[in-house]
Amino acid sequence: MTDVLYVHPARHAVDAGYQDLGFYFLMPVGVIGLANMLRQQGHHVRGINYPAELLRDRSFKLKPWLREQQGAHLVMVDLHWFEHAFGAISVARACREVLPDARIVLGGFTASVYASEILQSFPEVDFIIRGDAELPLARLAAALAHPHPNLSTIPNLSYRENDRVIENVRTYCATSAELDALDFVTLDFLEHADWYRTLQFEPTNLTREMSGLRGHWLCIGRGCLFDCAFCGGGKESHRLLAGREQVTLRSVARVVEDIARLAHQGVDQVAFNLDPAIFEESYWRALFAGLRQRNVRIGIYNEHFQLPTLEFVREFAETADIARSEIALTLLSGSERVRRNNGKFFSNKRLYPVLDALAQAGIPLYVYFSFNLPGEDERSFRETLRLAEEIARMYPPHLLKMINQAHTIDPCCPISREPGRFAVQVTLRRFKDYYAYCQKTLAFGPDEVSPWQERGFTWRARPDDALESMIRQWNAFCSRQRFLCFRVPQSW
Ligand code: SF4
Repeated sequence: MTDVLYVHPARHAVDAGYQDLGFYFLMPVGVIGLANMLRQQGHHVRGINYPAELLRDRSFKLKPWLREQQGAHLVMVDLHWFEHAFGAISVARACREVLPDARIVLGGFTASVYASEILQSFPEVDFIIRGDAELPLARLAAALAHPHPNLSTIPNLSYRENDRVIENVRTYCATSAELDALDFVTLDFLEHADWYRTLQFEPTNLTREMSGLRGHWLCIGRGCLFDCAFCGGGKESHRLLAGREQVTLRSVARVVEDIARLAHQGVDQVAFNLDPAIFEESYWRALFAGLRQRNVRIGIYNEHFQLPTLEFVREFAETADIARSEIALTLLSGSERVRRNNGKFFSNKRLYPVLDALAQAGIPLYVYFSFNLPGEDERSFRETLRLAEEIARMYPPHLLKMINQAHTIDPCCPISREPGRFAVQVTLRRFKDYYAYCQKTLAFGPDEVSPWQERGFTWRARPDDALESMIRQWNAFCSRQRFLCFRVPQSW
Protein backbone atom coordinates (compact mmCIF):
# COMPACT_ATOMS: atom_id res chain seq x y z
CA MET A 1 0.00 0.00 0.00
CA THR A 2 1.23 3.50 -0.82
CA ASP A 3 2.71 5.16 2.23
CA VAL A 4 4.31 8.24 0.63
CA LEU A 5 2.64 10.51 -1.89
CA TYR A 6 4.15 13.17 -4.06
CA VAL A 7 2.05 15.96 -5.59
CA HIS A 8 3.37 18.54 -8.01
CA PRO A 9 1.12 21.59 -7.62
CA ALA A 10 -0.37 23.78 -10.33
CA ARG A 11 -0.26 27.53 -10.01
CA HIS A 12 -3.93 27.83 -9.23
CA ALA A 13 -6.09 26.36 -6.47
CA VAL A 14 -7.00 22.67 -6.40
CA ASP A 15 -10.14 21.71 -8.32
CA ALA A 16 -11.11 25.32 -8.87
CA GLY A 17 -11.07 25.30 -12.65
CA TYR A 18 -7.94 26.63 -14.30
CA GLN A 19 -6.94 29.69 -16.20
CA ASP A 20 -3.45 29.15 -17.53
CA LEU A 21 -1.42 26.00 -17.15
CA GLY A 22 1.69 27.66 -18.62
CA PHE A 23 4.91 25.80 -17.91
CA TYR A 24 3.81 25.00 -14.39
CA PHE A 25 3.74 21.29 -15.21
CA LEU A 26 7.56 21.10 -15.04
CA MET A 27 8.55 19.26 -11.85
CA PRO A 28 11.85 20.07 -10.14
CA VAL A 29 14.40 17.52 -11.40
CA GLY A 30 15.49 16.58 -7.88
CA VAL A 31 12.07 15.16 -7.00
CA ILE A 32 12.63 12.12 -9.23
CA GLY A 33 15.78 11.23 -7.29
CA LEU A 34 13.98 11.69 -3.97
CA ALA A 35 10.99 9.52 -4.91
CA ASN A 36 13.23 6.71 -6.19
CA MET A 37 15.45 6.98 -3.10
CA LEU A 38 12.44 6.43 -0.82
CA ARG A 39 11.38 3.46 -2.91
CA GLN A 40 14.82 1.91 -2.58
CA GLN A 41 14.45 2.36 1.17
CA GLY A 42 11.28 0.28 1.16
CA HIS A 43 8.58 2.92 0.87
CA HIS A 44 5.73 2.67 -1.59
CA VAL A 45 5.66 5.99 -3.37
CA ARG A 46 3.01 7.27 -5.73
CA GLY A 47 3.15 10.62 -7.44
CA ILE A 48 0.93 12.88 -9.44
CA ASN A 49 1.67 15.95 -11.51
CA TYR A 50 -1.54 17.93 -11.09
CA PRO A 51 -1.12 20.48 -13.95
CA ALA A 52 0.08 17.70 -16.30
CA GLU A 53 -3.06 15.72 -15.45
CA LEU A 54 -5.16 18.77 -16.29
CA LEU A 55 -3.41 19.16 -19.62
CA ARG A 56 -4.28 15.54 -20.34
CA ASP A 57 -7.87 15.76 -19.15
CA ARG A 58 -9.37 19.17 -18.40
CA SER A 59 -12.03 17.61 -16.18
CA PHE A 60 -9.48 15.96 -13.87
CA LYS A 61 -10.03 16.54 -10.14
CA LEU A 62 -7.27 16.07 -7.60
CA LYS A 63 -9.31 15.45 -4.45
CA PRO A 64 -10.98 12.23 -5.68
CA TRP A 65 -7.51 10.93 -6.63
CA LEU A 66 -6.22 11.80 -3.16
CA ARG A 67 -9.21 10.05 -1.61
CA GLU A 68 -8.03 6.80 -3.22
CA GLN A 69 -4.67 7.10 -1.48
CA GLN A 70 -5.83 6.26 2.06
CA GLY A 71 -2.91 4.83 4.00
CA ALA A 72 -0.39 7.43 2.91
CA HIS A 73 1.28 8.86 5.99
CA LEU A 74 3.49 11.43 4.29
CA VAL A 75 2.74 13.77 1.36
CA MET A 76 5.58 15.60 -0.39
CA VAL A 77 4.69 18.83 -2.19
CA ASP A 78 7.34 20.77 -4.07
CA LEU A 79 7.55 24.51 -3.59
CA HIS A 80 10.67 25.38 -5.51
CA TRP A 81 9.50 27.98 -8.03
CA PHE A 82 7.70 30.91 -6.40
CA GLU A 83 5.00 30.70 -9.07
CA HIS A 84 3.64 27.73 -7.08
CA ALA A 85 3.33 29.66 -3.80
CA PHE A 86 -0.46 29.73 -3.91
CA GLY A 87 -0.95 26.37 -5.65
CA ALA A 88 1.33 24.44 -3.27
CA ILE A 89 -0.51 25.69 -0.20
CA SER A 90 -3.79 24.82 -1.87
CA VAL A 91 -2.52 21.26 -2.45
CA ALA A 92 -1.45 21.03 1.20
CA ARG A 93 -4.92 22.18 2.24
CA ALA A 94 -6.61 19.59 -0.01
CA CYS A 95 -4.39 16.83 1.40
CA ARG A 96 -5.22 17.85 4.97
CA GLU A 97 -8.92 17.77 4.18
CA VAL A 98 -8.92 14.42 2.33
CA LEU A 99 -6.11 12.61 4.19
CA PRO A 100 -6.31 14.06 7.72
CA ASP A 101 -3.87 11.50 9.16
CA ALA A 102 -1.11 12.22 6.64
CA ARG A 103 1.67 14.70 7.42
CA ILE A 104 2.62 17.20 4.76
CA VAL A 105 6.17 18.21 3.90
CA LEU A 106 7.24 21.01 1.57
CA GLY A 107 10.67 21.50 0.01
CA GLY A 108 12.45 23.53 -2.66
CA PHE A 109 14.06 26.96 -2.69
CA THR A 110 10.93 29.08 -2.15
CA ALA A 111 9.92 26.87 0.78
CA SER A 112 13.48 27.11 2.12
CA VAL A 113 13.53 30.92 2.02
CA TYR A 114 10.19 31.28 3.81
CA ALA A 115 10.09 28.12 5.96
CA SER A 116 9.38 29.90 9.22
CA GLU A 117 6.73 32.23 7.79
CA ILE A 118 4.93 29.37 6.01
CA LEU A 119 4.82 27.20 9.14
CA GLN A 120 3.56 30.13 11.19
CA SER A 121 0.84 31.04 8.68
CA PHE A 122 -0.38 27.73 7.26
CA PRO A 123 -1.31 24.96 9.72
CA GLU A 124 -1.87 22.57 6.78
CA VAL A 125 1.91 22.42 6.30
CA ASP A 126 3.63 20.22 8.90
CA PHE A 127 7.27 20.22 7.79
CA ILE A 128 9.62 22.08 5.52
CA ILE A 129 13.00 20.75 4.48
CA ARG A 130 15.41 23.63 3.83
CA GLY A 131 18.10 23.20 1.20
CA ASP A 132 19.01 19.68 0.06
CA ALA A 133 16.45 17.08 1.06
CA GLU A 134 17.91 13.58 0.56
CA LEU A 135 19.08 12.69 4.06
CA PRO A 136 16.46 14.79 5.93
CA LEU A 137 13.61 13.25 3.91
CA ALA A 138 14.85 9.71 4.43
CA ARG A 139 15.12 10.37 8.18
CA LEU A 140 11.70 12.04 8.32
CA ALA A 141 9.93 9.24 6.43
CA ALA A 142 11.52 6.67 8.76
CA ALA A 143 10.74 8.69 11.91
CA LEU A 144 7.05 9.04 11.04
CA ALA A 145 6.65 5.27 11.24
CA HIS A 146 6.95 5.69 15.03
CA PRO A 147 4.10 7.01 17.18
CA HIS A 148 6.27 9.64 18.89
CA PRO A 149 8.97 10.55 16.40
CA ASN A 150 12.01 12.45 17.56
CA LEU A 151 12.40 15.21 14.96
CA SER A 152 15.00 17.28 16.75
CA THR A 153 17.97 15.48 15.22
CA ILE A 154 16.84 15.63 11.58
CA PRO A 155 19.05 18.14 9.78
CA ASN A 156 17.54 20.94 7.66
CA LEU A 157 14.05 20.28 9.06
CA SER A 158 11.64 23.00 10.15
CA TYR A 159 8.47 22.02 12.01
CA ARG A 160 6.01 23.12 14.67
CA GLU A 161 6.05 22.00 18.27
CA ASN A 162 3.44 23.36 20.67
CA ASP A 163 2.66 26.14 18.18
CA ARG A 164 6.28 27.17 18.07
CA VAL A 165 8.34 26.88 14.89
CA ILE A 166 11.53 24.89 15.40
CA GLU A 167 14.30 25.16 12.83
CA ASN A 168 16.89 22.41 13.12
CA VAL A 169 20.37 23.34 12.03
CA ARG A 170 20.96 23.04 8.31
CA THR A 171 24.01 20.81 8.15
CA TYR A 172 23.15 18.55 5.24
CA CYS A 173 24.28 19.42 1.72
CA ALA A 174 24.45 16.58 -0.83
CA THR A 175 27.82 15.53 -2.22
CA SER A 176 28.57 14.45 -5.79
CA ALA A 177 28.72 10.83 -4.62
CA GLU A 178 25.26 11.15 -3.04
CA LEU A 179 23.80 12.62 -6.22
CA ASP A 180 25.46 9.85 -8.22
CA ALA A 181 23.73 7.26 -6.05
CA LEU A 182 20.27 8.60 -6.96
CA ASP A 183 18.04 7.55 -9.84
CA PHE A 184 16.97 10.65 -11.79
CA VAL A 185 15.51 8.66 -14.68
CA THR A 186 12.86 6.20 -13.48
CA LEU A 187 9.44 7.81 -13.56
CA ASP A 188 7.15 4.87 -12.95
CA PHE A 189 6.09 6.18 -9.53
CA LEU A 190 4.27 8.97 -11.40
CA GLU A 191 0.77 8.74 -12.87
CA HIS A 192 0.85 8.99 -16.68
CA ALA A 193 4.61 9.32 -16.72
CA ASP A 194 4.74 8.86 -20.47
CA TRP A 195 2.36 11.77 -20.97
CA TYR A 196 4.56 13.90 -18.73
CA ARG A 197 7.52 13.01 -20.96
CA THR A 198 5.68 14.30 -24.03
CA LEU A 199 5.15 17.60 -22.23
CA GLN A 200 8.87 17.88 -21.53
CA PHE A 201 9.88 17.76 -25.19
CA GLU A 202 10.92 21.23 -26.32
CA PRO A 203 9.56 21.43 -29.88
CA THR A 204 12.18 22.54 -32.35
CA ASN A 205 11.44 24.11 -35.70
CA LEU A 206 12.43 20.82 -37.30
CA THR A 207 9.98 18.69 -35.32
CA ARG A 208 6.89 20.81 -35.86
CA GLU A 209 5.13 18.13 -37.91
CA MET A 210 5.96 15.31 -35.51
CA SER A 211 3.84 14.41 -32.53
CA GLY A 212 4.32 12.29 -29.44
CA LEU A 213 8.02 13.10 -29.05
CA ARG A 214 9.30 12.68 -25.53
CA GLY A 215 11.72 14.67 -23.43
CA HIS A 216 13.29 14.39 -20.01
CA TRP A 217 14.87 17.06 -17.83
CA LEU A 218 17.90 15.43 -16.24
CA CYS A 219 19.77 16.45 -13.11
CA ILE A 220 23.50 16.66 -13.83
CA GLY A 221 24.36 18.53 -10.66
CA ARG A 222 23.38 21.33 -8.25
CA GLY A 223 24.46 24.93 -7.92
CA CYS A 224 25.65 27.61 -10.28
CA LEU A 225 28.82 29.58 -10.97
CA PHE A 226 26.93 32.85 -11.52
CA ASP A 227 24.57 35.21 -9.78
CA CYS A 228 22.19 36.71 -12.34
CA ALA A 229 20.28 39.65 -10.94
CA PHE A 230 16.78 38.18 -11.11
CA CYS A 231 17.65 34.53 -10.32
CA GLY A 232 17.16 32.84 -6.98
CA GLY A 233 19.11 29.77 -8.06
CA GLY A 234 22.53 31.40 -8.40
CA LYS A 235 25.78 30.80 -6.55
CA GLU A 236 25.00 32.97 -3.52
CA SER A 237 21.45 31.63 -3.09
CA HIS A 238 22.84 28.10 -3.05
CA ARG A 239 25.28 29.17 -0.38
CA LEU A 240 22.63 30.91 1.73
CA LEU A 241 19.81 28.40 1.31
CA ALA A 242 21.59 25.07 0.96
CA GLY A 243 25.04 25.72 2.39
CA ARG A 244 26.54 24.87 -1.00
CA GLU A 245 29.97 26.42 -1.44
CA GLN A 246 30.59 25.13 -4.95
CA VAL A 247 28.73 23.36 -7.71
CA THR A 248 28.05 19.71 -6.95
CA LEU A 249 28.44 17.90 -10.25
CA ARG A 250 27.44 14.34 -10.98
CA SER A 251 30.10 12.20 -12.61
CA VAL A 252 30.25 12.08 -16.39
CA ALA A 253 29.96 8.29 -16.32
CA ARG A 254 26.65 8.41 -14.42
CA VAL A 255 25.21 11.15 -16.63
CA VAL A 256 26.19 9.24 -19.80
CA GLU A 257 24.63 6.10 -18.31
CA ASP A 258 21.39 7.99 -17.60
CA ILE A 259 21.20 9.42 -21.10
CA ALA A 260 21.80 5.96 -22.58
CA ARG A 261 18.93 4.64 -20.42
CA LEU A 262 16.66 7.47 -21.55
CA ALA A 263 17.48 6.83 -25.21
CA HIS A 264 16.82 3.12 -24.65
CA GLN A 265 13.42 4.01 -23.15
CA GLY A 266 12.55 5.88 -26.35
CA VAL A 267 13.11 9.40 -25.02
CA ASP A 268 13.82 11.74 -27.93
CA GLN A 269 15.40 14.67 -26.17
CA VAL A 270 17.31 15.19 -22.95
CA ALA A 271 17.51 18.62 -21.30
CA PHE A 272 20.16 19.40 -18.70
CA ASN A 273 19.28 21.26 -15.51
CA LEU A 274 22.75 22.86 -15.58
CA ASP A 275 24.62 24.07 -18.62
CA PRO A 276 27.63 21.75 -19.15
CA ALA A 277 29.39 24.52 -21.13
CA ILE A 278 30.10 26.53 -17.96
CA PHE A 279 32.26 23.76 -16.52
CA GLU A 280 35.80 22.65 -17.36
CA GLU A 281 36.27 21.75 -20.98
CA SER A 282 37.31 18.26 -19.89
CA TYR A 283 33.81 17.75 -18.40
CA TRP A 284 31.73 18.39 -21.49
CA ARG A 285 34.28 16.83 -23.85
CA ALA A 286 34.08 13.61 -21.80
CA LEU A 287 30.28 13.81 -21.75
CA PHE A 288 29.96 14.15 -25.53
CA ALA A 289 32.72 11.59 -26.18
CA GLY A 290 30.98 9.13 -23.82
CA LEU A 291 27.70 9.47 -25.72
CA ARG A 292 29.42 8.96 -29.07
CA GLN A 293 31.35 5.93 -27.80
CA ARG A 294 28.10 4.32 -26.76
CA ASN A 295 26.38 5.30 -30.00
CA VAL A 296 23.73 7.24 -28.10
CA ARG A 297 22.02 9.48 -30.63
CA ILE A 298 19.50 11.64 -28.85
CA GLY A 299 18.21 15.19 -29.11
CA ILE A 300 19.70 17.63 -26.60
CA TYR A 301 18.00 20.81 -25.44
CA ASN A 302 20.52 23.04 -23.73
CA GLU A 303 19.87 26.40 -22.13
CA HIS A 304 23.24 28.14 -22.01
CA PHE A 305 23.98 30.08 -18.85
CA GLN A 306 26.53 32.23 -20.70
CA LEU A 307 27.89 32.02 -24.26
CA PRO A 308 29.26 28.63 -25.36
CA THR A 309 32.65 28.41 -27.05
CA LEU A 310 33.01 27.49 -30.71
CA GLU A 311 34.55 24.18 -29.61
CA PHE A 312 31.49 23.39 -27.52
CA VAL A 313 29.21 24.07 -30.50
CA ARG A 314 31.32 21.75 -32.68
CA GLU A 315 31.18 18.92 -30.11
CA PHE A 316 27.45 19.43 -29.63
CA ALA A 317 26.79 19.29 -33.38
CA GLU A 318 28.88 16.15 -33.71
CA THR A 319 27.07 14.35 -30.89
CA ALA A 320 23.42 15.38 -30.72
CA ASP A 321 20.61 14.40 -33.04
CA ILE A 322 20.24 17.90 -34.46
CA ALA A 323 16.64 17.66 -35.67
CA ARG A 324 15.48 16.93 -32.11
CA SER A 325 17.89 19.39 -30.51
CA GLU A 326 17.85 23.04 -29.68
CA ILE A 327 20.27 25.54 -28.21
CA ALA A 328 18.82 28.34 -26.11
CA LEU A 329 20.83 31.53 -25.68
CA THR A 330 19.82 34.01 -23.00
CA LEU A 331 20.97 37.39 -24.26
CA LEU A 332 18.77 39.42 -21.90
CA SER A 333 19.37 42.69 -23.76
CA GLY A 334 21.00 44.13 -26.86
CA SER A 335 22.77 46.53 -24.54
CA GLU A 336 25.99 45.02 -23.24
CA ARG A 337 25.76 47.27 -20.17
CA VAL A 338 22.29 45.96 -19.20
CA ARG A 339 23.33 42.39 -20.01
CA ARG A 340 26.49 42.58 -17.90
CA ASN A 341 24.80 44.33 -14.95
CA ASN A 342 22.24 41.56 -14.83
CA GLY A 343 24.70 38.69 -14.92
CA LYS A 344 25.54 37.67 -18.50
CA PHE A 345 29.15 38.38 -19.38
CA PHE A 346 29.61 38.39 -23.14
CA SER A 347 29.72 41.04 -25.82
CA ASN A 348 27.80 41.22 -29.09
CA LYS A 349 31.15 40.90 -30.85
CA ARG A 350 31.69 37.47 -29.25
CA LEU A 351 28.10 36.48 -29.96
CA TYR A 352 28.18 36.73 -33.77
CA PRO A 353 30.79 33.98 -34.45
CA VAL A 354 28.83 31.63 -32.16
CA LEU A 355 25.64 32.36 -34.08
CA ASP A 356 27.53 31.70 -37.31
CA ALA A 357 28.78 28.35 -36.02
CA LEU A 358 25.30 27.34 -34.83
CA ALA A 359 23.74 28.33 -38.16
CA GLN A 360 26.38 26.45 -40.15
CA ALA A 361 25.73 23.33 -38.10
CA GLY A 362 21.99 23.74 -38.77
CA ILE A 363 21.14 23.81 -35.05
CA PRO A 364 17.70 25.10 -34.06
CA LEU A 365 18.17 28.21 -31.92
CA TYR A 366 15.96 29.80 -29.29
CA VAL A 367 16.93 33.36 -28.40
CA TYR A 368 15.70 34.78 -25.09
CA PHE A 369 15.55 38.50 -24.31
CA SER A 370 14.20 40.01 -21.09
CA PHE A 371 12.84 43.51 -21.32
CA ASN A 372 12.23 44.74 -17.80
CA LEU A 373 15.61 44.39 -16.17
CA PRO A 374 17.17 47.02 -13.94
CA GLY A 375 19.02 49.58 -16.06
CA GLU A 376 16.80 49.01 -19.10
CA ASP A 377 15.53 52.21 -20.72
CA GLU A 378 14.17 53.26 -24.12
CA ARG A 379 17.70 53.57 -25.50
CA SER A 380 18.90 50.13 -24.37
CA PHE A 381 15.63 48.66 -25.60
CA ARG A 382 16.34 50.07 -29.07
CA GLU A 383 19.67 48.20 -28.89
CA THR A 384 17.71 45.01 -28.17
CA LEU A 385 15.53 45.57 -31.23
CA ARG A 386 18.62 46.24 -33.35
CA LEU A 387 20.29 43.02 -32.17
CA ALA A 388 17.09 41.04 -32.74
CA GLU A 389 16.88 42.46 -36.31
CA GLU A 390 20.51 41.53 -36.90
CA ILE A 391 19.98 37.93 -35.71
CA ALA A 392 16.87 37.70 -37.89
CA ARG A 393 18.98 38.75 -40.88
CA MET A 394 21.78 36.27 -40.28
CA TYR A 395 20.05 33.15 -38.88
CA PRO A 396 18.04 30.79 -41.10
CA PRO A 397 14.40 31.62 -40.34
CA HIS A 398 13.32 27.98 -40.40
CA LEU A 399 15.68 27.30 -37.46
CA LEU A 400 15.01 30.37 -35.34
CA LYS A 401 12.72 31.07 -32.38
CA MET A 402 12.82 34.25 -30.33
CA ILE A 403 11.05 35.59 -27.26
CA ASN A 404 11.18 38.63 -25.03
CA GLN A 405 9.85 38.13 -21.52
CA ALA A 406 9.36 40.10 -18.37
CA HIS A 407 11.00 38.70 -15.27
CA THR A 408 9.35 38.58 -11.90
CA ILE A 409 12.12 38.41 -9.35
CA ASP A 410 12.87 35.19 -7.49
CA PRO A 411 13.03 35.11 -3.71
CA CYS A 412 16.62 35.55 -2.53
CA CYS A 413 17.89 36.79 -5.92
CA PRO A 414 20.52 39.57 -6.01
CA ILE A 415 17.88 42.24 -6.81
CA SER A 416 15.92 41.13 -3.76
CA ARG A 417 18.97 40.99 -1.53
CA GLU A 418 20.53 44.27 -2.69
CA PRO A 419 17.86 46.51 -4.23
CA GLY A 420 20.06 49.59 -3.75
CA ARG A 421 22.71 48.19 -6.09
CA PHE A 422 20.09 47.94 -8.85
CA ALA A 423 18.33 51.24 -8.06
CA VAL A 424 14.96 49.55 -7.58
CA GLN A 425 12.44 49.07 -4.81
CA VAL A 426 11.41 45.50 -4.10
CA THR A 427 7.70 44.84 -3.61
CA LEU A 428 7.74 41.03 -3.27
CA ARG A 429 9.49 40.46 0.04
CA ARG A 430 7.65 37.95 2.16
CA PHE A 431 5.93 34.67 1.39
CA LYS A 432 2.53 36.28 1.70
CA ASP A 433 3.55 38.75 -1.05
CA TYR A 434 4.33 35.89 -3.45
CA TYR A 435 1.17 34.08 -2.39
CA ALA A 436 -0.91 37.20 -3.14
CA TYR A 437 1.01 37.79 -6.42
CA CYS A 438 0.06 34.29 -7.64
CA GLN A 439 -3.56 34.80 -6.66
CA LYS A 440 -3.72 38.23 -8.26
CA THR A 441 -2.18 37.18 -11.56
CA LEU A 442 -4.18 34.00 -12.07
CA ALA A 443 -6.63 35.42 -14.56
CA PHE A 444 -5.60 37.48 -17.53
CA GLY A 445 -8.60 39.42 -18.71
CA PRO A 446 -8.39 42.97 -20.07
CA ASP A 447 -9.00 44.37 -16.60
CA GLU A 448 -6.76 41.91 -14.79
CA VAL A 449 -3.23 42.26 -13.57
CA SER A 450 -0.67 40.31 -15.57
CA PRO A 451 2.84 39.34 -14.47
CA TRP A 452 4.55 42.06 -16.47
CA GLN A 453 2.64 44.68 -14.53
CA GLU A 454 3.47 42.96 -11.24
CA ARG A 455 7.14 42.05 -11.35
CA GLY A 456 8.20 42.33 -7.76
CA PHE A 457 10.13 45.56 -8.10
CA THR A 458 9.69 49.13 -9.28
CA TRP A 459 12.26 51.52 -10.69
CA ARG A 460 13.26 54.48 -8.62
CA ALA A 461 13.41 56.62 -11.75
CA ARG A 462 11.60 55.54 -14.88
CA PRO A 463 8.23 56.57 -16.27
CA ASP A 464 5.45 54.09 -15.57
CA ASP A 465 4.48 53.81 -19.22
CA ALA A 466 8.01 52.79 -20.36
CA LEU A 467 7.19 49.11 -19.99
CA GLU A 468 3.98 49.31 -22.01
CA SER A 469 5.85 51.10 -24.77
CA MET A 470 8.51 48.34 -24.92
CA ILE A 471 5.83 45.66 -25.11
CA ARG A 472 4.15 47.46 -28.01
CA GLN A 473 7.44 47.80 -29.88
CA TRP A 474 8.41 44.15 -29.36
CA ASN A 475 5.01 42.90 -30.50
CA ALA A 476 5.22 45.10 -33.60
CA PHE A 477 8.72 43.72 -34.32
CA CYS A 478 7.41 40.16 -34.00
CA SER A 479 4.53 40.69 -36.38
CA ARG A 480 7.03 41.63 -39.14
CA GLN A 481 9.22 38.50 -38.83
CA ARG A 482 9.38 35.39 -41.01
CA PHE A 483 10.72 33.25 -38.15
CA LEU A 484 8.84 32.11 -35.04
CA CYS A 485 8.85 35.22 -32.90
CA PHE A 486 6.68 35.23 -29.80
CA ARG A 487 4.77 38.26 -28.62
CA VAL A 488 5.41 39.22 -25.01
CA PRO A 489 3.74 36.43 -23.05
CA GLN A 490 1.40 37.33 -20.22
CA SER A 491 2.54 34.34 -18.21
CA TRP A 492 5.32 31.79 -18.15
S1 SF4 B 1 19.97 32.48 -14.43
FE1 SF4 B 1 22.14 32.91 -13.93
S2 SF4 B 1 22.34 32.53 -11.74
FE2 SF4 B 1 20.44 31.57 -12.41
S3 SF4 B 1 20.98 29.44 -12.85
FE3 SF4 B 1 21.12 30.60 -14.79
S4 SF4 B 1 23.25 31.28 -14.91
FE4 SF4 B 1 22.89 30.63 -12.77
